[in-house]
Amino acid sequence: MRIYKDRFLRALANRAKCPYYVVDERICDYLLHTGAICDEYSKGQKIKNNIAENTPFLLVCGVFKEIGISKPTCEDFANLMRCTIMGDGICPECGGDCDVIDGEYTSHQIDRDIEPEITTKWELYECRDCGCKFYK
Ligand SMILES: [Zn+2]
Repeated sequence: MRIYKDRFLRALANRAKCPYYVVDERICDYLLHTGAICDEYSKGQKIKNNIAENTPFLLVCGVFKEIGISKPTCEDFANLMRCTIMGDGICPECGGDCDVIDGEYTSHQIDRDIEPEITTKWELYECRDCGCKFYK
């Protein structure tokens, strides 16, 4: 799990005076570890929509201490809730795992005795989670 790098994550990173990737990692660790977000989180969704049922408000607020914001404001909380949770895969929309569904390749036969060298011209991926298709 990771958090999409957008203005909400950047706002939190600015307040925490920490690089965004550190804030990203600490938020994920904390929310998963405390069970505020369960292991089957919805990729590509806001944190607000991923908080597990009956999670105490104060437990979620503990994340601010983790990232170094000692006096969190309502603004900080709103920014946290608007952060988007991504999976660890390569999908640009949700971080889901993707399959190659099409592609074009060229092979160079340099020598008849060795395997031809295959280079990828392009590949089309499809996300297993959100179904989005993209070239890489
Ligand atoms: Zn996706």
